[in-house]
Formats: sequence, structure tokens, C-alpha cells
Amino acid sequence: MCNGCGADVTTIHPVSTRGLAGVEAIWLGQCDCGQTTFAASGKPEAVQAFFDALGSDTELTLGSQSRDGSRHEIS
Ligand SMILES: [Zn+2]
Repeated sequence: MCNGCGADVTTIHPVSTRGLAGVEAIWLGQCDCGQTTFAASGKPEAVQAFFDALGSDTELTLGSQSRDGSRHEIS
């Protein structure tokens, strides 16, 4: 579900959780409208910390990667 336009997000990428203690899984969804949507599971405090991080450099980095169309490596 897109946070921007509310449409179903069908393009979902699993994202490495390396370095994020307590976070079990993260998905990145790219909507047709350009909005990037995140989902995460794991310990509540760890997931909250992840979303807090999205408010800083992480969101800008991921957004620029998807906007220019370049594919990002998951290792
Ligand atoms: Zn959207």
C-alpha cells in the first residue's frame, strides 16, 4: 500500500537487514507514482529505530537510487 497515493504497490524488493540488530526483514516497495514505501518486521523497538532512520539520510539515498532507475545490489 502506497503512502503517497494509496495504490497497491506491486514492485517489492527485499532489503538486507545487515547491521540492523533485531530487524528480521525489510521490504522496499516502489509505486508507479514514485513514492517509496517501506515495510519491516522484527522487534518493535528495532523496527521503530529503522523507521526513525528513514527520516534522515536513508530515505534520501534510497529515493535517489530508485528515481534514476539504477538497480541496487542486495548482498
Ligand atoms: Zn503511489
